[in-house]
Amino acid sequence: GTPKHPVLMARGRIPGGRLEAAQYLAWDHIANTFGDGSLRITTRQSLELHGVVKGEAKATLKALRAALQTTQGACGDVVRNVTQTPNPCGRADLAQLDDVARQLSERFRAYSNAYAEVWLDGEKVDEATEKEPLLGDAYLPRKFKISVTLAGENAVDVYTNDLAFAATLKAGRIDGYFVLAGGGMGMTHNDPTTFPRLADLLGWVPAEALLPVADAVVGVHRDHGNRGDRRRARLKYVIHQRGLDWFRAEVETRAGLVFLDRDLPPWRTTSTLGWLPRVDGTWALGLHTLSGRLAGPLKAALRELVDRHWLAVQFTPDQDAILVGIPEAAKAEVDAYFKARGLDIHSPAPLFDRALACVALPLCGLAITEAERVLPELLALIQSRLEAHGLADRAPVFRVAGCANGCSRPYAAEFALVGQTPGKYAVYLGGNVEGTRLAQEVVQKVPTEALEPFLDQLFSLWKAASEPDERLGDFAARLGLDTLKQQLEVIQ
Ligand code: SF4
Repeated sequence: GTPKHPVLMARGRIPGGRLEAAQYLAWDHIANTFGDGSLRITTRQSLELHGVVKGEAKATLKALRAALQTTQGACGDVVRNVTQTPNPCGRADLAQLDDVARQLSERFRAYSNAYAEVWLDGEKVDEATEKEPLLGDAYLPRKFKISVTLAGENAVDVYTNDLAFAATLKAGRIDGYFVLAGGGMGMTHNDPTTFPRLADLLGWVPAEALLPVADAVVGVHRDHGNRGDRRRARLKYVIHQRGLDWFRAEVETRAGLVFLDRDLPPWRTTSTLGWLPRVDGTWALGLHTLSGRLAGPLKAALRELVDRHWLAVQFTPDQDAILVGIPEAAKAEVDAYFKARGLDIHSPAPLFDRALACVALPLCGLAITEAERVLPELLALIQSRLEAHGLADRAPVFRVAGCANGCSRPYAAEFALVGQTPGKYAVYLGGNVEGTRLAQEVVQKVPTEALEPFLDQLFSLWKAASEPDERLGDFAARLGLDTLKQQLEVIQ
């Protein structure tokens, strides 16, 4: 029903999705005290509190501040939460990304004291830093997304970011980065001037160029981004319009360097689900969640285990939670703990592993269709049709979004549904597991009730015409948009 009081969402700024035990427990407590009792892991490794009553917003943000957490700069026309490849095993190479994410997050945090004045009763942050070093008097034309990873590891969906740094190693230390820029998911249905876009490779730079290059790229967005039309205000349109050569030269001039031409290694996406041994002899446990929602027994389990074993927590860009640092001696107990509560620590099938849904109705003001709330039904339907066609072991990376903004990164999935009109979805096919290819729209306005015959049609085509073991995204891309469209004449 309609809530009696206006309710708000509060989103944290949690670079790399890493929380210490005390910080996680604070979020859990605040969700119970001020929110609707649940927490939601976002696709950018942050946490959202839903159902915060407006009159308690200040108390909520003060409580977060007391736990050294903030929502400042997690939303709005600023650099958003910096994402980072999770490191459940405590690998020394990946651990170096912690500082890279921290530096970038710090560099582009909002410096204005207005947040503290409005929400924290005027508690002053450092006055000397109040001046925005990069933004001057204006915000960015629109939000800006940054991600960091190791070259070859794509758990963060690097190509969907405005800016990404993929580190290279020399003798185990980061010696430089491949720099990618101009990715972004958002678009408007039937407006060809808007489109999802994957980032382009600008080239390689040495490690010390990290912040100068980041400043230069964000600076180009600040100076050349479209401030007249929000739908076209992302960096990807600047690069599309002016061309990659212009953009690269502009960044080189501003940063005072030249991008080097190096070969990017192939990408893979390493799973972080299940029990994983850590280099320090302890264990990590990657827990699959549906749409990142932590509620009920799952949320209670996380709180109790974090508290009992004082575990750190990592959130993944696939909306999962990893408990980090479980002692060997406690492993069996943790397993028994979940079992006793009927909680399966594994995802039910490969289809579920990387499935994503944005929050959509009723919580997102832009939503046209359902996403998070219908994810269980959608997954059950897709799984049943996969099984019926004997394709469950080739389950696609599936994502659903409640509108074309694409917060769940649908256009980088093998198969995605994107809310178009109430109860109807546009179908996208053709992304890949590695996250390096864009999906394309093959059918518009498929009503929810037509999904089953549509899936049967799609899966029989895939089964009949695919190469052995060919995945759905690769198959769709090989067939091409026109052939797919011809072959998939669905009920509309
Ligand atoms: Fe809201 Fe659209 Fe983003 Fe979903 S994709 S959370 S509906 S803005």
